[in-house]
Amino acid sequence: MKEFDYIIIGGGCAGLSLAYELEIHEKLKNKTLAIIEPRPEYKRDKTWSFWKVVPHNFDDCVKKSWKNFSINVPGKTIHLECKNYPYQSIDSGLFYEKINNKLKENKNISFFKDISEISTKNSFIFNSVPNIKKNHLNLWQHFCGVEIRTKNDFFDEEIFNLMDFDCEQRESVHFFYTLPYSKNKALVETTWLSKMNDNSQKDYDKQIKDYINGHLGIKDYEIIYKEEGAIPLFYPLYEKEKNKINIGTAGGMTRLSTGYTFLNIQEHSKYLRNQIENISNSKRFEISKKYQFLDDIFLRVLNKNPERMSDIFFKMFKTPPKTVIKFLSNKSNFLEDLKIIVKMPKWIFIKALFD
Ligand SMILES: Cc1cc2nc3c(=O)[nH]c(=O)nc-3n(C[C@H](O)[C@H](O)[C@H](O)COP(=O)(O)OP(=O)(O)OC[C@H]3O[C@@H](n4cnc5c(N)ncnc54)[C@H](O)[C@@H]3O)c2cc1C
Repeated sequence: MKEFDYIIIGGGCAGLSLAYELEIHEKLKNKTLAIIEPRPEYKRDKTWSFWKVVPHNFDDCVKKSWKNFSINVPGKTIHLECKNYPYQSIDSGLFYEKINNKLKENKNISFFKDISEISTKNSFIFNSVPNIKKNHLNLWQHFCGVEIRTKNDFFDEEIFNLMDFDCEQRESVHFFYTLPYSKNKALVETTWLSKMNDNSQKDYDKQIKDYINGHLGIKDYEIIYKEEGAIPLFYPLYEKEKNKINIGTAGGMTRLSTGYTFLNIQEHSKYLRNQIENISNSKRFEISKKYQFLDDIFLRVLNKNPERMSDIFFKMFKTPPKTVIKFLSNKSNFLEDLKIIVKMPKWIFIKALFD
């Protein structure tokens, strides 16, 4: 059976980002890499968006970038600026194409559909397939989004809507998210933060239709793309193994309070590329303990007080946008953390500490 120096299990966002990072830094000139990916073909299946707080390799896959955003709760809206950290939206179709075209050039890189096709005995493994045990206590961010094309110009393409809580909450946390790509095209997403044990929340198509028709007042439109997903707001199980590192969602790269993962995956890939010559002995890369601690408290508050969350998010964004963005993107300093913390309702956060 064929042997490889490195194996990447899962050629999705994390697997391909790592392979690309290794390839462009010439780490695969004298090393072999197998990528295990079962999907029959690569096509657009996700939209990865984030505030660009650090450089990454995929500016040319950005579908649209914004310098302004808004947040709504019933009867109130805040408009915020993010010109220092533009919000970028990456088209996964362009991302897959760019990376696969690059990887094809190197004969040391091979793709397989199943791990059983190769020997794993002497390889170093990067695994992006999470080990998730269903547990009714775990929180998820689950969502469905459609890209629509309207007959008439409707959207203000200069400003995206991060969260619109002016919608049914059904004793949970629910908001809409709208990314206007142009005056007549936008991604409209219904997003829930919940334990996913209430199937009635999954009437996504109806929620989206009602929002577009009733709330936005758009009657004449067509759906040109759809995506659906669920991001675990807990860390997948991690067993320490000598010749294996978990990456992506499996590797704990999701910021649990927000679901943002893409940019953490990029930073992890750069870290692994820097460590690659000594990978077996490298220290594990993780989202800093400070954010793990703060997110844990935040999710406990969310779990106990879903009805307070729209107000809590709204208050958080009353801090200067640069501060909140850095906080939500793991780049804040102590003073910036404090600025956010003082905006939070003290009592329920203190209570959550002892729950
Ligand atoms: C629809 C959607 C939208 C998202 N939007 C954002 C966003 O806007 N911003 C953000 O920061 N994050 C976002 N996320 C979260 C996160 O960035 C993505 O989930 C990201 O794709 C995670 O990368 P990954 O490599 O861990 O997982 P994936 O990209 O899912 O890659 C895992 C790969 O493993 C393959 N695989 C599955 N089973 C096996 C197996 N047995 N053997 C080998 N391979 C296997 C899959 O086919 C897949 O290609 C989103 C997630 C989803 C689902």
